[in-house]
Amino acid sequence: MARDDYESVIGLEVHSELSTKTKIFCSCPTGFGAAPNSQTCPICMAMPGTLPVLNEKVVEYAVKAGLATDCEISRDSKNDRKNYFYPDLPKSYQISQFDKPLCTKGKIEIQTNNGKKIIGITRIHIEEDAGKLNHNEFGGGSLVDLNRAGVPLIEIVSEPDLRTAEEVELYLRKLKSILEYIEVSDCKMQEGSLRADVNVSVRKKGETKFGTRTEMKNMNSFRSITRAIDYEIERQIDVIENGGKIEQETLRWDEVSGKTFSMRDKEDAQDYRYFPDPDLVAIKLSEEYIENIKNMLPELPESRKQRYIE
Ligand code: ADP
Ligand code: ZN
Ligand code: MG
Repeated sequence: MARDDYESVIGLEVHSELSTKTKIFCSCPTGFGAAPNSQTCPICMAMPGTLPVLNEKVVEYAVKAGLATDCEISRDSKNDRKNYFYPDLPKSYQISQFDKPLCTKGKIEIQTNNGKKIIGITRIHIEEDAGKLNHNEFGGGSLVDLNRAGVPLIEIVSEPDLRTAEEVELYLRKLKSILEYIEVSDCKMQEGSLRADVNVSVRKKGETKFGTRTEMKNMNSFRSITRAIDYEIERQIDVIENGGKIEQETLRWDEVSGKTFSMRDKEDAQDYRYFPDPDLVAIKLSEEYIENIKNMLPELPESRKQRYIE
């Protein structure tokens, strides 16, 4: 079959660091670029016996992001532990949200060459960032910097509604402008405060079922996201055309070679052994609280544009 007989299906998981002054579960500052481990305390370094306390501003910022993307805001939400081992995660679990995210069922409208298109937002949840590993920077080996550990994030998961790298770029630019406009994140890709994991699959045109997807990480500019998507679509079509099967896996984009490399088999939710964090109370939001945040939101770019046109 020809390449033109295929279409790609793309869904994004975007992580955005919130610009709160302090971290999500302790009062350490969140500023970028400080000396390694200078913005840490026993809580974000995971010392035994320490307890997290949820920063209210994080909930406020996440609810703002949810309202600005037409999400439903959950009145009843909670934090869960996502268990995995990695040297940048001193607790060996990340506090995230599993089955009760703060925001669900939103949407973002993009303007493509063929007109308007709605991209569904599956969910927005809050979670903590991990630390950062510095490889070979200080005389060999790897050193851990925990300044970023516990910096608040929202993860914005899209429906698999995107079809091309161009649509992905439009969606990301729109999302970025919304988050900047409502002042919940500075969205600096080069500093990692906006990071997109891109899920890609291909299928023959006319097919109703989705193909097996791969998830790509490590792109830190719009250009590398576009390059990575175009590369991955071609790679998947080649595999299928040669009679092979796509493996569901996580891939690392390499900017220098312009290729994707296998990082690990894809984990399933069960591999993370999610469970409610017993150290944190449930997040209950009143109508009044949500109404107040609604009233705090500035007029969004889209609606202002519409108003001026009218
Ligand atoms: P996880 O990656 O944590 O398992 P999800 O199942 O929620 O999470 O899916 C993550 C992302 O993958 C979503 O953005 C979704 O739209 C996208 N996605 C799911 N299935 C496909 C597919 N077949 N092709 C492309 N993207 C997909
Ligand atoms: Zn701390
Ligand atoms: Mg994923």
